[in-house]
Amino acid sequence: MAGVSESRVSGRGCYAPETMLVGIDTWWYDVSSTRTLGGSCTQMPDMELIGNQHFVPKPVPGAVGAVKRANVSAELFTIPTDDGKFIVYAPLRRAAFVANGALVDFIVRLRETGIVDEVADPGGLVTDFLRNLEIVDGGEEPRPITEFSGDPEPTAVTLFLTTACNLRCTYCYAAAGDTPARFMSLDVAKRGIDFVAANARRKGLPEIEITYHGGGEPTVHWKVMTESLQYAREVASRLGLGVKAYSATNGVMNDSQICWIIQNLNGLSVSFDGLPSAHDKHRLTVLGQGSSAQVERSLRRFDEAGFPYGIRVTVTADQIASLSDSIRHICSNFNAQRVQVEPAYQLGRWDDAASSETEGFIAAFRAAVLVAAEYGRSLFYSAARVGALTNHFCGITQDSFALSPDGGVSACYEVFSGDNPLSASFFYGRPTGFAGYEFNLPVLNNLRRQAVQHRAFCSGCFAKWSCAGDCYHKSLTVNGSGEFAGSDRCHITRELTKDQILAKIAGSGGLFWHEGALGQSGVSAGKEVLS
Ligand code: SF4
Ligand code: SF4
Repeated sequence: MAGVSESRVSGRGCYAPETMLVGIDTWWYDVSSTRTLGGSCTQMPDMELIGNQHFVPKPVPGAVGAVKRANVSAELFTIPTDDGKFIVYAPLRRAAFVANGALVDFIVRLRETGIVDEVADPGGLVTDFLRNLEIVDGGEEPRPITEFSGDPEPTAVTLFLTTACNLRCTYCYAAAGDTPARFMSLDVAKRGIDFVAANARRKGLPEIEITYHGGGEPTVHWKVMTESLQYAREVASRLGLGVKAYSATNGVMNDSQICWIIQNLNGLSVSFDGLPSAHDKHRLTVLGQGSSAQVERSLRRFDEAGFPYGIRVTVTADQIASLSDSIRHICSNFNAQRVQVEPAYQLGRWDDAASSETEGFIAAFRAAVLVAAEYGRSLFYSAARVGALTNHFCGITQDSFALSPDGGVSACYEVFSGDNPLSASFFYGRPTGFAGYEFNLPVLNNLRRQAVQHRAFCSGCFAKWSCAGDCYHKSLTVNGSGEFAGSDRCHITRELTKDQILAKIAGSGGLFWHEGALGQSGVSAGKEVLS
């Protein structure tokens, strides 16, 4: 951020005139002069919600015309830094700056009274600054909420083709290979495709989407994978629709499969842990050998063809220390468009393993972000996505439509079979008659209620409109079916979100960040989470 400091005075080209810099040392701060990265914890008790939407100033008897009024018009949060300052964050205005306690107090008084403290702000510069960020007198804040009701009408289908897998990863959430292998029939796939195609036609949409996902490795059930996509194309063509197709994969596949994927899919999410030593320790073949050479071969083929794919890195506790080296290995060897890094999920075969949802993970992620930046890349952690305002973490709150091998309808990528312990919470439909599905609306409506605006625990969290309540499956495994009470991921999410806010401020010139409210079209669908 050194360059930011120099550009602060000379060329911001933004709101604050040079004269305002006089007050900066005592009012607000250039981010490049603070040491907030790697700072102290921002657990809930440290955070304070300092504003509410649509605050109406109280009338002050006898003061009409004698005072300056201003309306705090943003939902505001303060986030303490480790050097006694505060990030003031207005998520729905996509605005933030770093302030001292006096400025926070000034805003609190303004919110409570609606009257500008002219002793504290004699020239009105501070109030004008807040006004330019839409924190004051900014009008109504659009809330990034989309809601669903009635029977679902999906236009995208995810097919859990099989629970069989050609690998035996130590940390597999599905414990693939340890459970009876199930395979989807082509008829099950066809029914789902017919359903989403009819919905797309009725809604007047241009295309349907088909995604192949786990439980096991989709490419293991190759015949139904290829024939179902061919069928989707035929159906879509008859209805004047296009088809977009994606898959998750472990990347262990033969040449003809690689060619087919390049020619037929629009994108791929490949599980690959970076350094061969890291990958091969956990991602093993059925014969117990490392699989990195085969995955790297696939990635090179994709790169040669210019095929778009993302890499998903799973970090176990023992691999935290080598995360930076793994990211360097990925960035220096492969052209992945997106690199997602997540702590390993303590589920399936990894149920009893040491947690990697730790301070060590946060520190390693921060170091890895800097490595990725050397290559012009960024890293993605699913719950930290400042700027992507949404009330949905993933598809389960927005009628995600995924089919188990026997045709049941699940909302969750990790609940891919009716005998999963959490199937009662996520399976909300089943095939009926010769076509279509019957839906269990109480189950579906409970899933819809997991959107963040319904979560009491999340209501005071500064990350709520980007994290959007995190993974419900994780919540159920941590909290049971009771009220959500947070998880270790909350701390990771807040720390990494805080980093992103500071990076936004630094990238905007160092003093403040302000992109303005998003219209509904900018609301994230949460589809970036391909767990
Ligand atoms: S789940 Fe996300 S939004 Fe909710 S409290 Fe945790 S970090 Fe905040
Ligand atoms: S993010 Fe969580 S709730 Fe959403 S699909 Fe994935 S595992 Fe299921």
